Amino acid sequence: MIFEKNSLICPYCEKCFIEPKVLPCGENACSKCLPESGCFDCLVCTDSHETPKNGFPNNKILFRALEQPINFEKIEAKNQEFKANMEYSKIKLDELKSRMVQLEAEVIEHCKLIINQIDLNAEEKINLINNNREDLIKMANEYQDKCLSNLTKYTKNLAELSEEVNFLIKDKDLLLNKKDIDEKLEKYYYVISKLELSQKEIR
Ligand SMILES: [Zn+2]
Ligand SMILES: [Zn+2]
Repeated sequence: MIFEKNSLICPYCEKCFIEPKVLPCGENACSKCLPESGCFDCLVCTDSHETPKNGFPNNKILFRALEQPINFEKIEAKNQEFKANMEYSKIKLDELKSRMVQLEAEVIEHCKLIINQIDLNAEEKINLINNNREDLIKMANEYQDKCLSNLTKYTKNLAELSEEVNFLIKDKDLLLNKKDIDEKLEKYYYVISKLELSQKEIR
């Protein structure tokens, strides 16, 4: 049991208790500080007390506390140690707080870097897609050019064929001899077959 230094001081003589007695009001005093008989007022709370025949009872707890040698230096040292520990804890706590702030900044900086990296990668991919797109469009345009130039070529062929057909048609109402008819028919079938071939090739 640890007593405060002040709790072992008599409020009457202001010295360390000798034979401490407990009063009905709860205060304590040395036996020599109290009257041997009669009425008196408590110095602390001013309650009136009448001294019993056999005196006031001993305060046994205080008695026991006074029997133990109390090392106030030791208590003071403990207090200093406790204070030092508290100071150390406060310093540690402050360190931890500033570390938290630092960590927060590090996290934000790190995430910024990650986002930059994501943007760079995305840009790379977009460029790649754009390049592919351009290649594909180029191929489609080339295909279109090729088809159109084929069509132009066959349009020219068609013009030639059309002339030949007109030439054949021109004489359709005339009476021809058999040789001429055979020639015309042969020519006719030749022109038709060329027309059909052109149609196939355009596609
Ligand atoms: Zn006293
Ligand atoms: Zn009192």
